[in-house]
Amino acid sequence: MPALAEKQLEVVHPLAWILNNDFVNENGDQLEFDSHRFLVRPYADDHPDQVIMKSAQIGWSTLAILKTFHLAKYRGLNCIYTLPTRNATKDFVFPKVNPLILRNKSIRDIVTQDSITLKQVGDRFIYYKGSFSETEAIMISADLLVNDELDRSDQRVLNTYLSRLGASKYGWKWRFSNPSVPGFGVHALWENSDQMHWFVTCSHCKHETFMAFEEAEGNAMKPHFLDITDKLYKCGKCLKTVSDSARQSGRWIAKYPDRSMRGYHVSQLMAPWISPAKIVSEFESGTPDYFHNFVLGLPYIAAELVVDRETILRATTPGEVAMTDVVIGVDNGVTKHYVIGTPSGIVYYGKTDSWEEIEGLLNLHNAIMVIDANPYPNVPRQLARKYRGRVFMNHYIPDTKNLGTVQWGDGKNYGMVKADRTRVIDLVASEINSGIQMFMMNPSDMEGYISHWTSMYRSNETNNAGITKGAWITKENKPDHWAHATVYFRIGLEKVMKGRSGGVRPVAPSAPLKGVLVNHDRQTIETPVDIMKIARESGKPRKDWRR
Ligand SMILES: [Zn+2]
Repeated sequence: MPALAEKQLEVVHPLAWILNNDFVNENGDQLEFDSHRFLVRPYADDHPDQVIMKSAQIGWSTLAILKTFHLAKYRGLNCIYTLPTRNATKDFVFPKVNPLILRNKSIRDIVTQDSITLKQVGDRFIYYKGSFSETEAIMISADLLVNDELDRSDQRVLNTYLSRLGASKYGWKWRFSNPSVPGFGVHALWENSDQMHWFVTCSHCKHETFMAFEEAEGNAMKPHFLDITDKLYKCGKCLKTVSDSARQSGRWIAKYPDRSMRGYHVSQLMAPWISPAKIVSEFESGTPDYFHNFVLGLPYIAAELVVDRETILRATTPGEVAMTDVVIGVDNGVTKHYVIGTPSGIVYYGKTDSWEEIEGLLNLHNAIMVIDANPYPNVPRQLARKYRGRVFMNHYIPDTKNLGTVQWGDGKNYGMVKADRTRVIDLVASEINSGIQMFMMNPSDMEGYISHWTSMYRSNETNNAGITKGAWITKENKPDHWAHATVYFRIGLEKVMKGRSGGVRPVAPSAPLKGVLVNHDRQTIETPVDIMKIARESGKPRKDWRR
């Protein structure tokens, strides 16, 4: 039995509640705060106005779910927890909230009514709501509003939810998200916050500063950075190695301690269980916006990106290619444009009005084929059924969120593939630009192909919800078919490369780090952390970093 003092501490600190009662996460793994030390202070933070600009896979949703239960139980707050999707139940309550209730007796004991989107704790409530309908937002009011995935939510609906805090004497709001583009959503809020950074002390020269990806010459703070050649973190001052245990033992320091909004920036650079080599591999395999938004937790907008004549010719070299592991990408239309290649490069492009000819190419090369679903889906669908596992139908979608650039359907959706249009074209364009995608052809044969790439350009578009995003646009009345056929080829290539070792070019950045607050890949702990001491002291003011 915990001592009375510890029980009292549980009332004040969610962290004490979690540790005293051996909480586990939704996967059944014990929550631990030695490698996840950067979460200690956020767990203990009951600041009423919080914004968290974060990377993927650092445990923030679990934190928010547990803290809402704690607040409902011990502080008597009604909470609304919003998610971007229409089906908050399927995407969030079932996989995350319900397992946390089920697996932790201390939560189970306080939940008195458990419907799907409404959990009652004593006489208080936690609602799980989508942010897609303003009518839903008007019906309920709350003391705490939690907006999960702020940047992917409909901003007008979120504003309606904010108005539901008006009647509460608390009016707390906690908003968090993977960022998207600069100046929007969570990044815009973060800019106005106190901007808490995770400061790490170099064990060699005692230089204490925040973690950055690139070396920042000219920055007076001399941030630590990742040396991508050595795959090691280096001190921004003495350039010696910053160890995992140093990253782990950092502390939060506010850049603007006088500001009234609390802001945390959380990136995978501060997670000691994620190795610098893993970050480098994400950097090399993912698109820049994925890497910034989901690994660094930073907003990103691509500079102008084009695939021009010179770029393609630079990547073109005649040569013999073994025709094994052949992939064919087909752009749908009255005239079908196709691109044929292998993991070594693209070897041929052409066009035909005949689906029979397309099927003939498939059989001739025993190929994997990805066909655009539109505008004529019938034959591609028939082919996907007839050649199960070899022919796939691609749908471009505007945003796969953080699910990866390409998603392969399974079950009844087997044979279908969805690709994030902007990201997958970005990827192909950057691979051509960097010479990763080769053309094993005669340069003199490339002109027709080149003209389809040069009719496209990348720009920024703002949608009805006011969200600005990158988009590939085709100049009026210009053909772009072979460019898209190349994108479908690239998607199909992922199928061929799967399971092969070496030379793998996955479209989606390598599998997301599984689980949160788990002990996988944990580093050796040199100094045991006194969690309770940190929890007790968490409210004390810290030193200004501009000292
Ligand atoms: Zn140093």
